[in-house]
Amino acid sequence: MRILVTGGAGFIGSHLCERLLAEGHEVICLDNYFTGRKVNIARLLDNYRFELIRHDVTLPIFLEVDQIYNLACPASPIHYQYNPVKTVKTSVMGAINMLGMAKRVGARILQASTSEVYGDPQVHPQPEEYFGNVNCIGPRSCYDEGKRVAETLFMDYHRQNGVDTRIVRIFNTYGPRMLENDGRVVSNFIVQTLRGEELTVYGDGSQTRSFCYVDDLVEGLVRLMNTEAEDIQWPVNIGNPGEFTMNELAELVASTAGKEVSIKHLPLPQDDPKQRKPDITRANELLGWSPTIGLEEGLVKTVAYFAETIQT
Ligand code: NAD
Ligand code: UDP
Repeated sequence: MRILVTGGAGFIGSHLCERLLAEGHEVICLDNYFTGRKVNIARLLDNYRFELIRHDVTLPIFLEVDQIYNLACPASPIHYQYNPVKTVKTSVMGAINMLGMAKRVGARILQASTSEVYGDPQVHPQPEEYFGNVNCIGPRSCYDEGKRVAETLFMDYHRQNGVDTRIVRIFNTYGPRMLENDGRVVSNFIVQTLRGEELTVYGDGSQTRSFCYVDDLVEGLVRLMNTEAEDIQWPVNIGNPGEFTMNELAELVASTAGKEVSIKHLPLPQDDPKQRKPDITRANELLGWSPTIGLEEGLVKTVAYFAETIQT
């Protein structure tokens, strides 16, 4: 197949492009390099089945493809809050442009949605039926509400136009090729530990997250895209249900790197969700998917990546 990956030069996108090429597909990677990097896909450039396009998804584009993975959107709070209006445009206009293309060429399309659609959840763990608890006017809203509208568009293009759509709600994912200045907690703690800096724990560090290693996530994305299961247009959570406080994560990163660390507490950002953990029953039943790489094992691989690639 010929497969388009928007946001393909980013952290998750680059792993996905690699996986799809390994399966023998033609891959078109589309990116505007806001948070993506050419170095992430540099080793794919020699492959004649790989094509790279510099393009912004807020603008229309016409390509003949069989499948579209729509990943283009900054994912880290510091990056998506840098230009919040652009973040909304990327999610909403990006979805409209990619759905329009899917409709025109009859491609199957998958949207990278997020656990942020649950906001600061009052139901724990979060099943797909939960409507969420989202602030529509706060600093995270550009991302959360942008992704929620994108889900709405996916459902409406499916109902109104019969487009073959899929929505994955991705829970915190980590691994090699995250940016060292990405700002998300796993890369921050690893980079700080390797540099002998204090670890920046926001708030008292009792808030929880569930961390999925990138290879597990990519496996889930590919299975979701290719299943013929019934009612597959409804969202599917993909994430690792192991739940950790940020204090526990700090300790685990330090022990993985074999370093002593000290902690610096900084203010908790506004609307920071207090807890998050996926209910993955649906992914398990429909896709036979569950994560295979625990946090300890994934951190070993990620620490090794940063130890090799950053200046300490
Ligand atoms: P990332 O920032 O590394 O990748 C996003 C990519 O999209 C980058 O290459 C960036 O340059 C590109 N991009 C941004 N705006 C664009 C635009 N207007 N036009 C074209 N390209 C654009 O982030 P990631 O972690 O790889 O996330 C990939 C997708 O998965 C995003 O849609 C994100 O919202 C979603 N997601 C990720 C996580 C996670 O924990 N990593 C969790 C939930 C959802
Ligand atoms: N966080 C932290 N220190 C950091 C970066 C993040 O304590 O240096 C916290 C943040 O407040 C949140 C959790 O880690 O509670 C996960 O943050 P991240 O930005 O990785 O993802 P998200 O909040 O989008 O889940």
